[in-house]
Amino acid sequence: MAEQGYHDYKCKNCGGPLVFKGDVNKMVCEFCDSQFDMSEFKDDDRVREETSDWSQSAGNTMAAGEAGMNEYACNTCGAVLVAEENVGATECPYCGNPLIIKDTFEGMNLPDGLIPFAVDKKSAQDALKNYYSGKKLLPKGFIDNNRMDNINGVYVPFWLFDCETDGSVFYKATKERDYKQGEDDWKEIRDFAVMRAASMSFEKVPADGAKEMDDAYMDSLEPYDYSKITAYNAAYMSGYVASKYDEDANAVKGRVDERIRNTAKSEIRKTVEGYTTVSEQASDIDIKNGKITYCMIPVWMLTTRYNGEAYTFAMNGQTGKVTGDLPVDKGAATGYFAKIAVIAFAVIQAIFFLLKVFQGSNVVPAEIGALVVALIIGAIALSSAKSSMVSHRKHEAAQYLKQGSFKLKRKEDRHTGTRNELVRKAQQSTGA
Ligand SMILES: [Zn+2]
Ligand SMILES: [Zn+2]
Repeated sequence: MAEQGYHDYKCKNCGGPLVFKGDVNKMVCEFCDSQFDMSEFKDDDRVREETSDWSQSAGNTMAAGEAGMNEYACNTCGAVLVAEENVGATECPYCGNPLIIKDTFEGMNLPDGLIPFAVDKKSAQDALKNYYSGKKLLPKGFIDNNRMDNINGVYVPFWLFDCETDGSVFYKATKERDYKQGEDDWKEIRDFAVMRAASMSFEKVPADGAKEMDDAYMDSLEPYDYSKITAYNAAYMSGYVASKYDEDANAVKGRVDERIRNTAKSEIRKTVEGYTTVSEQASDIDIKNGKITYCMIPVWMLTTRYNGEAYTFAMNGQTGKVTGDLPVDKGAATGYFAKIAVIAFAVIQAIFFLLKVFQGSNVVPAEIGALVVALIIGAIALSSAKSSMVSHRKHEAAQYLKQGSFKLKRKEDRHTGTRNELVRKAQQSTGA
């Protein structure tokens, strides 16, 4: 091979990955045709880091010792909660262990904005009952109606990220065509080097600032209607607890960057059309003009401890959307799998039987085939039932892409070569 990959090196003109070509003894960019001598590169030219630029305003604080405020601490998970004195929180909404009331209120950072609760406690309790019912794999001892009273309205601390992205993605792509030469089947493969550069904007990509809150829960409760964000007012606290953040914006922005970059890449990918295959080679997406605001978001929460594990039910306090993790009863899971598999087996057997009757054909491995299919159906049904009992983390931010903000800035599709491959040679007599 004349080529050796140096994909760590990036083109100084377009940012595309460079390849060392032995025939010209140079680093060559397949995306803009630039050529560079090896001597032009120093070690620190190798990888241009993607940048992410975020800034945050300094907010207001509620003074320590404020009258009428209680501060609670969970010694198990480390959560710190604040509530008016009459609220009387007793158990940690995050981990279900008892809360300890602190002697003094130590003050808290106030949010830039807050989404008020729109769903009341009764509706949250009804939703919780609904959430439990119909879960076939839930252990019988898990549901205890008396616990419904312990459901807590919590303002969960959130960081909201606004930004623009600007960057390029590089692909290798092919256009393929089948043809015949004589009796042989051939494939013509035209190779392309494709690059796209685009910018777009994102608005209020959320990440929670509560270490003890599973990120997957909060991701599952999205979206929130941000048009209802209002300025903080102590009156909104009445009857609810507020959680102090223990993860600042710096601690969570890596996760937000990942979501934003993934969506930027998939938006850019949509502009690569008309190819048989497309594979991403490299990308370089900068995050610019990032602005972070601190917001409190309403969540109804109840954490139940069962066999030493914590299972949290969470409900979006604005929209009523629910999520959570529930324990799976092993016996119930096995029973469910067996039941589905037996039903599927019977149905498939019946179909094979009818096929035999009507077509007169002899489907020999019918039993084995039916058994395999039945087991697969059972496994799919079980995994889907389990999947409805856990929350899922998000890795993209498509719903926070600002409408109409996508701007394609550069678009190149270079034909780099054509290959012909023999797919199937015609049968020839061997003359034996
Ligand atoms: Zn280039
Ligand atoms: Zn706790």
